[in-house]
Amino acid sequence: MNNFKNLRGTVDLLPDQLIKWQNVEKIIKEQLFRSSVKEIRTPILEMTELFMRGIGEGTDVVSKEMYTFLDRGERSCTLRPEGTASVARALIQNGIKTKPSQKLWYMGPMFRYERPQAGRQRQFHQLGVEYVGYKSSRSDIEIITLAWDILEKLGIKELNLEINTLGDHNDRLSFQKAFLKWLEVNKNSLDLDSQNRIDKNPLRILDTKDIQTKKILEDAPRLIDFLSEKSINRYLSIKEKLKLLKIPFIENFNLVRGLDYYTHTAFEITSGALGSQSTVCGGGRYDNLISQMGGIETPAIGFAIGLERLILLSGNELEENRGTDIYIVNKGFDAETLAISLSRRLRNYDLITELDLSGASFSKQFKKANKLNSKSIIVIGDDEALRNEFVIRLFGENSLDNKEDKISFDDSIKLEKWISKNLLATITSEN
Ligand code: ATP
Ligand code: MG
Repeated sequence: MNNFKNLRGTVDLLPDQLIKWQNVEKIIKEQLFRSSVKEIRTPILEMTELFMRGIGEGTDVVSKEMYTFLDRGERSCTLRPEGTASVARALIQNGIKTKPSQKLWYMGPMFRYERPQAGRQRQFHQLGVEYVGYKSSRSDIEIITLAWDILEKLGIKELNLEINTLGDHNDRLSFQKAFLKWLEVNKNSLDLDSQNRIDKNPLRILDTKDIQTKKILEDAPRLIDFLSEKSINRYLSIKEKLKLLKIPFIENFNLVRGLDYYTHTAFEITSGALGSQSTVCGGGRYDNLISQMGGIETPAIGFAIGLERLILLSGNELEENRGTDIYIVNKGFDAETLAISLSRRLRNYDLITELDLSGASFSKQFKKANKLNSKSIIVIGDDEALRNEFVIRLFGENSLDNKEDKISFDDSIKLEKWISKNLLATITSEN
């Protein structure tokens, strides 16, 4: 027999790990809700063309990292490597005209064929936020502070915000001209990867990790010197507002980000607490993407946060979990039927109810309740079924006096009283 294994770069998330994931997701969603950002869900599978056009063919993501295949109808499909292009497509397709500005979020798996390592997988998860139809520099500020606040709410330490501006399309063109000239002269001193980028995507050279190239780049023309007055003022006002809000940042003129569609503000948030894959959040403005994809001219800005890196960073306090409230020990034909119906009633009181389905001996069932650390226990056997009642008592460390109560299946009032006296108080103090 074949021993099946998951594909390289993918992981199983098991119940114990998911407690933390669910807490992280909950905190994120609460903050998005408070910021009136609405959820959008787009397909995980899209036409390959969408990403080639949207993200740019010269980018690493499109040229090296995509999961692309032909479906049975010979259409080229791709598992989404990021969410922005899909959101833009969905908005154009569903008539963006009627609703010019929208604050949207999505969360889910993304796929990139990369070398797996800590904090880098082939199937990973992102939270993405997109403000579509927003032009003012205040929307840049709101997006940056939203990302910052989410990371702070999650208790992530040693956060650093880096910002840069890429100017608008014209600024970029005049910079590119000067930069290409400089590259011509300095080509042979650059690393091979950077040399290859000269024709395909010269701006990306600024983002190199090669130390030698980095050093040489210090003498290259700088994009910031080619910005129009309007672009410069926009950038200055963003820096000013970040200072007013006391959000610390550093300027990084080499921050260009891997996707082609960015204009004006680009930013990244890293954490010193992570190793080499230190970027938790990347974002920026993309005023031309939607029109390039065939929509009406629509300014927009967004960010994406990598959830795996958040999980690596967030503390153990997010692992806390509410345990079982009531364990129902039951044995015998009538008892088991009554137990099913009682478990459904108890869940209506918002109690975490575990119905034993084993049919094993009473002592085995008690052991299981003990293992789960259940706060209370209900016992239904043949005798109880005959009398149409069940036994209920506190359990484990809660059962100081160990007093049992008997409650009739028909007596909801007595049941509710027992629950509110014995369980609800402890549950509310836990949360
Ligand atoms: P990196 O430089 O780490 O490759 P990136 O620039 O490719 O990041 P973006 O496309 O901006 O990343 O995606 C935003 C965030 O998604 C990243 O900051 C990171 O937290 C996360 N991320 C990106 N690729 C991966 C991956 N392969 N595995 C896990 N998380 C990832
Ligand atoms: Mg990458």
